[in-house]
Amino acid sequence: MKRKGILIALGVIVLLIAIFMLFRTDRLESGFYAMGTVPCKVVTYGRDMLEFDGDLSAVEGFVKRMEGVFNAHDKSSELSRMNRSAYDQPFKASGGMIDLIDESRGWVTKTRGSFDPSVGPIIALWKSAAKMDALPTKSEVDGALGLIGFNDFVKVEGHDVSFAKEGVRLDFGAIAKGAIVDGAVKLLRSRGVTGGLVEAGGDAFAFGDRRFRFGIQDPTSREKLMGTLEIGEGAVVTSGNYERYSEIDGKRYSHIINPRTGYPVKNDLISVTVTGGSAASADAMATALMVMGLHAGIELIRMNDGMGAIFVEQVENGFEVWVSKSLKSRLIPDGGWGKNIRTY
Ligand code: AMP
Ligand code: MG
Repeated sequence: MKRKGILIALGVIVLLIAIFMLFRTDRLESGFYAMGTVPCKVVTYGRDMLEFDGDLSAVEGFVKRMEGVFNAHDKSSELSRMNRSAYDQPFKASGGMIDLIDESRGWVTKTRGSFDPSVGPIIALWKSAAKMDALPTKSEVDGALGLIGFNDFVKVEGHDVSFAKEGVRLDFGAIAKGAIVDGAVKLLRSRGVTGGLVEAGGDAFAFGDRRFRFGIQDPTSREKLMGTLEIGEGAVVTSGNYERYSEIDGKRYSHIINPRTGYPVKNDLISVTVTGGSAASADAMATALMVMGLHAGIELIRMNDGMGAIFVEQVENGFEVWVSKSLKSRLIPDGGWGKNIRTY
């Protein structure tokens, strides 16, 4: 009788352990789409399925809320409302908006204006040019150029944002995704997640003590990888010309604008992948490096401790890949890409 009781107790314990193991799968991953088409991914370690369910919906809710703040294509977003009214009277902005304005200011300075979220009027000009399939005139470009100057024209006092010039329009397309990824990681940490990854449309941040491998897209083919980059905690963000561009009069124009000239960036860079301590900083930097081009870009990234960059440059008969010394041993090239790698 006593033996039977022990056996039943053991059976119950085994069953409980099995149920526990079933729900406590170490790595959990899922995703959703933001803004309709931007794939977002959430990975956690050491969470059970119920906890992960909560983590995922918290991140999704956060991302959707931030869309309502920063989406330049949505007329009712906070950004659009601010763009319409901050010249006439101070606009009461949310904490998230004020934080991103503050963070952007630093990157405008560090990149000497290659990253500048006040490119809004130039973006609008080139968008309508693409729609009409006709290049903008020089005077149109010059007119819009006069409105670029984030650090001169955007004033913040407490939560009040005002524009010092009529027509100033902000566009956080080059940094918002990164900032949202950083915010989502902060949220996961506040829920007790100690390790994982958040990715939104190519902007990623990994945290905890695992190592992650990021696929770096082959700029010539969506289905292939140029290689994988292994990192511990930190951000990996890519900015590229190969996917988002518009066509005017049969010619391709980049979605990245040189804020000094008002023209879409035109250099030999196909893509730049940046690693760093936050996704927002890597995002701003990746866009700036695309604007600066290879040589000035290498100089700037060298000056920023804790950041690294992989530049893919188009050369006469193929590509060259320029990799920071600190990233060289962590980049595992695919296919024939190994022979094109240079370090700096
Ligand atoms: P990314 O894909 O991060 O390089 O960001 C590109 C987006 O940022 C564009 O689609 C524009 O909305 C905006 N943008 C373009 N050029 C610049 C620039 N030089 N500085 C800041 N934002 C820019
Ligand atoms: Mg960017």
